[in-house]
Amino acid sequence: MKNEPQFDERYRLSPRHVDNPGVEKRSRAVLHQQQQHLDRLRNRPRNIAYFEHAVRGENISDAAPLVGYFCNMTPPELIRAAGGVPVRLGCGNAALVQTGEEVLAGDICPLAKASFACVVDERSIASRCDAFVLPTSCDAKTKLGEILEDYRPTFMIHLPPEQNHELFLKETVKSYQRLEAFLGGVTGRKVSRKALLHAVRQGREQAGLVRRLQEIRSECPGALSVQDLFLMIQAASSGVDMEEWCRECRNVITEIEGYSPERRRFRHRVVLTGAPAIWPNFKPLSLLEECGADVVADTLCSGTESCYDPVVIDETGHKSLLRALSLRYVFASPCPAFISQGKRLNRVINLVDEFTADAVINYSLRLCQLFDAETYRLSQVLKQRQIPFMNMRTDYSLEDIEQLRVRLEAFLETLEEI
Ligand code: SF4
Repeated sequence: MKNEPQFDERYRLSPRHVDNPGVEKRSRAVLHQQQQHLDRLRNRPRNIAYFEHAVRGENISDAAPLVGYFCNMTPPELIRAAGGVPVRLGCGNAALVQTGEEVLAGDICPLAKASFACVVDERSIASRCDAFVLPTSCDAKTKLGEILEDYRPTFMIHLPPEQNHELFLKETVKSYQRLEAFLGGVTGRKVSRKALLHAVRQGREQAGLVRRLQEIRSECPGALSVQDLFLMIQAASSGVDMEEWCRECRNVITEIEGYSPERRRFRHRVVLTGAPAIWPNFKPLSLLEECGADVVADTLCSGTESCYDPVVIDETGHKSLLRALSLRYVFASPCPAFISQGKRLNRVINLVDEFTADAVINYSLRLCQLFDAETYRLSQVLKQRQIPFMNMRTDYSLEDIEQLRVRLEAFLETLEEI
């Protein structure tokens, strides 16, 4: 399938690169601070250094073209099957927001700004990518695509407005077919059915391992900090070899299966929903843990949601596999990119039930209108079901941390009275 150009060639701009030693220094300080924070955690798996190196992009193989991508609606399986290395580009470094603002000016979310800043920084992995893929999941991403095209070949996945597969599955499969053709142009390799099936099976294995980690944490949250869980999940999309990641993950599972706490812990169990908490911004995760809450489940696209349900293989034909990827990544997604909130509400309510949670915390990232717009319905629906709820609205900076801590502690105290 030949791809029609998605952007108007006449108005392309020359790529610019930014070298700001001040920002670079602050960015290193943010990484160092987060690392120190992780170092203070208790009961860390023995091989956690593998995952720490991976999220810093130190385990990337340059042997194959790197494809930087955004959001859970981009199937990494398709990139792998085309012979590319998928690298998820969302960035949570507060110091980089300023650089991103030079191009993405105005009220645009810090995630988009910080992620773009990585592209213009020649030392970052994003700047080493051979191509970019992103879906039209929000206004920031839709507009970011054309900016990224100035730097590298970029492909936008068209998302349907509704998650009605009877109406929109065909269109989405077509969009994935166009992505396949685009990736073939980048890697010089056609996606074969065999390679796609192998990548889908590998993705299923990864999802199964994350599911097992979640089960162990549900029974004994002290076995693995939610920060290390997110670190491990995000390491998987940092350009690592999947077999190696699975092996390291199995080692963690074996280690924490044998964990028994020294004493019984009295902590509240919460479901975390909302915007992605992306390395090195684990602020909502660390705050919750420090205040005495265990995140036993989440719907964050940077957390367990990225591997919540494995892709279902009904038939192994090429098109059937693309259909299976579409159903998993687009039609089952709880992302607020779609017109109905139903999928996310359902998921949150089911998780509260399945993981016997005491409350729901919504992480609302300032300037992300999609999550802001969903907060009211979420709070009301949970209220009707008598599920305690708190909205944690914040950004990447650490300035409001004490204020949030006071609010969270007060909220958790109210749970004790229930
Ligand atoms: S919440 Fe949705 S739009 Fe935002 S980063 Fe995640 S997948 Fe993308």
